[in-house]
Amino acid sequence: MIQTSFNIDKIRKDFPILNREVNGKPLVYFDNAATSQTPKQVIDVIVDYYSNYNANIHRGVHTLSQEATDKYEQARLKIQKHFNAASSDEIIFTSGTTHSINMVANGFSSLLKKEDEIIVSAMEHHSNIVPWQMLCERTGAILKVIPMNQEGELILEEYYKLLSDKTKLVFCNHVSNALGTVNPIKEIIEAAHNIDAAVLIDGAQAAPHIRADVQELDVDFYTVSAHKMCGPTGVGILYGKEEWLNKLPPYQGGGEMIAEVTFEKTTYAELPHKFEAGTPNICGGIAFGAALDYMNAIGFEVIAQYENELLEYATQELLSIEGLRIYGTAAHKTAVISFNIEDIHPYDIGSILDKLGIAVRTGHHCAQPVMDFFKIPGTVRASFNFYNTKEEIAILVEGVKRAKSMLL
Ligand SMILES: *Cc1c(COP(=O)(O)O)cnc(C)c1O
Repeated sequence: MIQTSFNIDKIRKDFPILNREVNGKPLVYFDNAATSQTPKQVIDVIVDYYSNYNANIHRGVHTLSQEATDKYEQARLKIQKHFNAASSDEIIFTSGTTHSINMVANGFSSLLKKEDEIIVSAMEHHSNIVPWQMLCERTGAILKVIPMNQEGELILEEYYKLLSDKTKLVFCNHVSNALGTVNPIKEIIEAAHNIDAAVLIDGAQAAPHIRADVQELDVDFYTVSAHKMCGPTGVGILYGKEEWLNKLPPYQGGGEMIAEVTFEKTTYAELPHKFEAGTPNICGGIAFGAALDYMNAIGFEVIAQYENELLEYATQELLSIEGLRIYGTAAHKTAVISFNIEDIHPYDIGSILDKLGIAVRTGHHCAQPVMDFFKIPGTVRASFNFYNTKEEIAILVEGVKRAKSMLL
């Protein structure tokens, strides 16, 4: 394959928002783990949709509806190809990872019984904890947790000990949004399958950086949010193996998801429509496809390599600040740095950085158990994407030094 040369100046020009100022300073956007920015190629697709062929899909005989349906289904095929799903029927459009996870958790209500066990990891996002707790309440199943070590890596030996013939499901994120750890999901999936448990991998934080191959991973469910990978908010997917999607009952009833409705009985539509009740985010789905086109044109390997350079540089520069501690020092990480300086509250550092035009996230990052593990209220989190630069990281480092001198 021909490698695209990575032209950062050209890439930055694709993102209109990177030109704006915040508090009189050029924006330095380091909150990519919460949501990424949108290139004009994707914005153009959104404008084109509402300007030229906005219509409801799968229903109308008219031209606009057919155009919208074609584009929406083309986007599904792009997503299928990107994640190498065996069939486009295995790609369910959702409003994002949270929705996808709830869909699976809800579906398993009828498949679990009392005393069955569910395993989650210690570094999950709340959206991959709360739906399972709710599932346990409904079914009497028991939640077990894979512990992690001080580096923020899962302890696999402990995981293997948790597995038994009671284990029905295992849930883990591919990449932790709070720490940046890339988890050994291949091992996790394999071990679960050895005892016939199903595995859901939350790919929300991994998908912008790593191109997952769902067949190679042999994963049962994989979830993605478009807004973390240059697409719009409010759209994402649930990948599910066909056999599992056929086993699960539908999540919501409504239009689009039925084959036939009478007051006596309703039969459900085939996959993927069985899980797609109501009018979906049509424009969002199409724009998600465009976002994948955009990122693939640059190339995920090129992106990962560049982001890794940013991570190494930022780690080294930030650690040169005395009293700064990084949480999440796993050997295998994406470009996320969670840190604190002595006992300064993360919010105070974040506020000063904002005055300097630098956007970081502060708080528990929807992963309170991770914060409890490290016995901290939260962290400052800087997360980088392929459109960020070393110059921006230098601005961050100066900003953090300034915040430290003001607050200590
Ligand atoms: C962002 C994120 C989620 C939640 O995604 P939504 O788009 O808000 O539904 C879940 N898990 C991880 C690891 C995330 O980073």
